[in-house]
Amino acid sequence: MQVKCEFADRGCQSILPLTVLVPHSQDCAYRPVSCRNPGCSQTVNLGQLVAHETDECEWRPVGICQRGCGLVLLQRAVTAGHECVEALKNQIGEQEIRTGSLETEMRRLQARFVKREKSLLAQIATLHGDVQLQALNRLAQFVTNFFLSLSLSLSLFLDVI
Ligand SMILES: [Zn+2]
Ligand SMILES: [Zn+2]
Ligand SMILES: [Zn+2]
Repeated sequence: MQVKCEFADRGCQSILPLTVLVPHSQDCAYRPVSCRNPGCSQTVNLGQLVAHETDECEWRPVGICQRGCGLVLLQRAVTAGHECVEALKNQIGEQEIRTGSLETEMRRLQARFVKREKSLLAQIATLHGDVQLQALNRLAQFVTNFFLSLSLSLSLFLDVI
């Protein structure tokens, strides 16, 4: 049984036995694929992907700017007219956004740490309190015992007298 390629509507004219249809459609030159250049959202035929990515894509890198900024130039920047200062400003802006979110994250972590530290201190204080309480109890017991034995020996003494 011969069938048309599933990408016939995209231009593939292959008519193949059903058994080879699956392997063919994996490699079919008319298979739609996404451009891999970051920023580009274009879908092209597999057979044109390399040509698109390297020669046509507006988002393809075309080298490093030799005019001073040293940034990677995309074709679209070249088309639009690359301005080193503007490009650098944009990049710094992006970095500031990233740094900003980093700062927010740091503050969040710091706040959490301070909270944890406070609860740790509170725990230590409670512990401290317990120790003091125990010491006080022991002291009180000691004093009681001391007076008990004192009064006992006093009464003994008084008895003697
Ligand atoms: Zn095909
Ligand atoms: Zn592209
Ligand atoms: Zn530049």
